[in-house]
Amino acid sequence: MVTATKLVIAVPPGPFKKIGGGLAKKIQRDEAFQSVMGFPAFKGAAVYPRAWWEDITDENKRLYPMERFLSNSDCLGWSLPHSGRGPSGEAVLHLAYKDGECGEKWGQILNSVPKSMIDLEIHRALEYKFNMMIPEPLDTIYQYWDEGAWYLQRPGTRVSMRQVEQWAKKPFPGKHIYMIGSSYHPFRANSEGALESANNALLEGWGIPNPSPSHEALAARSLSHVRGEKLKMIR
Ligand SMILES: Cc1cc2nc3c(=O)[nH]c(=O)nc-3n(C[C@H](O)[C@H](O)[C@H](O)COP(=O)(O)OP(=O)(O)OC[C@H]3O[C@@H](n4cnc5c(N)ncnc54)[C@H](O)[C@@H]3O)c2cc1C
Repeated sequence: MVTATKLVIAVPPGPFKKIGGGLAKKIQRDEAFQSVMGFPAFKGAAVYPRAWWEDITDENKRLYPMERFLSNSDCLGWSLPHSGRGPSGEAVLHLAYKDGECGEKWGQILNSVPKSMIDLEIHRALEYKFNMMIPEPLDTIYQYWDEGAWYLQRPGTRVSMRQVEQWAKKPFPGKHIYMIGSSYHPFRANSEGALESANNALLEGWGIPNPSPSHEALAARSLSHVRGEKLKMIR
C-alpha cells in the first residue's frame, strides 16, 4: 500500500477509466469526470529518401515545410512536410492526420490488416492526392489514439469545461487530490491546457502562483488596462 499526503493525478480520462481502487472509482463516478469525452484520431508519417514534394515545379502545388495540404480524398486529411533532413537528404512527411469518421476508419484498418497493406493503400492514396508518382518510403509509422487523442465535453452534458476545471483543482474538498492534464482544462487538445491545469494544482495545493499566465489571462489584463486608460481620457 502506498500513502501520500498530497496526490496529483496526471492521467487523461481514457486510461484513467481503467484504473481500479476506491478513490479512482469515486472520481470515475463524478459527473464532471463523466462529462469529458475522448475523440480518437489517426496519424501516419513516413521517411523518404528525399523531399520529393520539393520537386514539384508548379508553385501553386509545391509544399514548403509546415505547409498543410488538406484533402478528404481517401480519408487522408492533412499532409505536412517537415524541414529537417537526414545525412543523405532523408525527409519526413506527415502522410495523414484525421479525427472523426475518417480517423475511426483508419483505426479499424490498422487493427485488421498487416502494416504492409496500409503502406500500399496510403502510397496509392498519396499518389492520387498529389497527382504524381512518388518514391517508396524508407519507413512508415501509424498511430491511432483509440481512447482519445483529445477530449471535449460529451454532447448533452450539463457540465461546462470551466466547471470541469474547477472540479479538477480539488475534486474532494478537504482532500489534497488534484487532477491535471489538458482534458481537465478549457484549453483542450493543447499542451497549454496541461500546463495551465498543472499551474492550478500548484496554486491550490502548494500556494505557488502561476509563473507564466496564459495568453487569455494576459489578454484580459491588457483589455482592462486599455479600459482604464480610456476612462482616464474621458475624464
Ligand atoms: C496527434 C496529436 C497532435 C497534437 N498536436 C499538438 C500540437 O501541435 N500542439 C499542442 O499544444 N498540443 C498538441 N496535442 C495535444 C497535446 O499532446 C496534449 O494536449 C498534451 O500532451 C496533454 O498533456 P497531458 O499531460 O494532459 O496528457 P498526456 O500527454 O497524454 O500524458 C498523459 C500521460 O499519462 C500516462 N499514463 C496513461 N495511463 C497511465 C497509468 N495508468 N499510469 C500512469 N501513467 C499513465 C501516459 O503514458 C502519458 O505519459 C496533440 C495531441 C495529439 C494526440
